[in-house]
Amino acid sequence: MVTDTRLEAELRDLAGSVPDPELPVLTLAELGVLRDVHVDGPGRVTVRLTPTYTGCPAIEAMSADIERVLHDHGFPDVSVVTVLAPAWSTDDISAEGRRKLAEFGIAPPRAHGADGGPVPLTLSVRCPHCGSTDTELLSRFSSTACKALRRCVACREPFDHFKEL
Ligand SMILES: [Zn+2]
Repeated sequence: MVTDTRLEAELRDLAGSVPDPELPVLTLAELGVLRDVHVDGPGRVTVRLTPTYTGCPAIEAMSADIERVLHDHGFPDVSVVTVLAPAWSTDDISAEGRRKLAEFGIAPPRAHGADGGPVPLTLSVRCPHCGSTDTELLSRFSSTACKALRRCVACREPFDHFKEL
């Protein structure tokens, strides 16, 4: 059914454009947490989300925001389902999402071994301000549970880093 597919794509765009409650510079689509939108019947839609971290409280806020957006679009019956497998990883952040993170001074996680190459054992986190890899961990938990606070040894600027899975 072509119309349904088109409608689902439209609803997916709507749900995906909801800003992440913890990192409002990113949309849920850019963060890569929106898995699937399925129209079950007239006015009924199911949205599948994968949380960034198990127990990340942001999932509640995300669900509420998606429900509101789809209600406003004429779907009174919205169910948001949390899908744990396959698990979200920082690799799911889109290229645009990574660019925005860097722009806002948050070090984007490195994409690991996409071409099957060896994954480096040393974790060098690059400073988003000056590009130095000489950075130190200040706190495992930053403003949100999903980020760590680091400081650059070269320029002394603190920055948030997405913890990798
Ligand atoms: Zn620096």
